[in-house]
Amino acid sequence: MKKLVSIVIPAYNEADNIFVIAESIKNVFSSIHYDYEIILVDDGSADHTLEKIKEYSNTSENIFFLEFSKNFGHQLAVKAGMDHAYGDCVISMDCDMQHPPELIPEMLQKWEEGFEVVYTIREEDKALSKGKRSSSSLFYKLLNWLSDIDLEPGAADFRLLDQKVVNIFRNFHENEPFLRGLVKWLGFKQYAIKYNPAARFSGKSKYTVKKMFRLALHGVTSFSIKPLYSAVYLGFIFSFASILYIPYVIYAFVNNVEVSGWASMLMTIVFFGGLQLIILGIIGIYVGKMFMQTKNRPNYIIRSTNIQNK
Ligand code: UDP
Ligand code: MG
Repeated sequence: MKKLVSIVIPAYNEADNIFVIAESIKNVFSSIHYDYEIILVDDGSADHTLEKIKEYSNTSENIFFLEFSKNFGHQLAVKAGMDHAYGDCVISMDCDMQHPPELIPEMLQKWEEGFEVVYTIREEDKALSKGKRSSSSLFYKLLNWLSDIDLEPGAADFRLLDQKVVNIFRNFHENEPFLRGLVKWLGFKQYAIKYNPAARFSGKSKYTVKKMFRLALHGVTSFSIKPLYSAVYLGFIFSFASILYIPYVIYAFVNNVEVSGWASMLMTIVFFGGLQLIILGIIGIYVGKMFMQTKNRPNYIIRSTNIQNK
């Protein structure tokens, strides 16, 4: 019997990409000896993405869709697809052709060799805007420095997971999963493949700099509590620094030096005010996360699907 490969594709306003990606996957599988199914997750698109998906799923028996009740975000869309994928392995990839389907045979080969996680690393893309490139490299530096996982720069959400790993993921109920980090954290035998990203086929990127900054902050705060320690260290450093100031105060008192420098005092107050707000904010993020997670709400809501009794 042929093995079944589930392919999970999140789509948010990608109407013009659906047909292209599905057809190119079909092409790839026509030359290898595997069965496949595609699970397209419509993440609350505002355009005709869902219609296109439904249209396409009518033409073929192995095309499934999940319709979210609203936009829940890329990571949860991938998670939802994985939760509904029961292939022998599951490949997740973007909808916009930036993740070349031609890489799939190589990923499958590595999987057959015994790797349970085959992930991909984007080679430096000259076509990407400078802002995006440097923000991406900053993202990984910050993430690795602050958290306890070690992600390679360019790690993409294009990866193959063995059924075993997917089953473990099903028990994860984080309301803001950071899949790249979680996959790394899980362990298992992992293999990295390098690839050259293609240009987006149609539409534009949904990750603005603001969204990437949020993802970075989220990546760090969901993997480590190191930022909380920063408050303690900074506290020690500044207390120590203030002790160094005491001799000068005594000197000034003894020698009757005139009191001056309200400007430097004001600066100090503003500086420490800012520092306290930042640290309060960091603590706030963690408290907020606990608050959201204790509500125990469903992570995503499915409005409709053509996947039956799974
Ligand atoms: N996406 C999604 N929900 C969102 C944002 C993006 O499902 O809220 C999907 C999008 O359709 C695409 C993938 O996630 O398939 C990656 O998004 P995008 O190409 O915009 O990101 P980039 O490649 O620019 O980092
Ligand atoms: Mg993209």
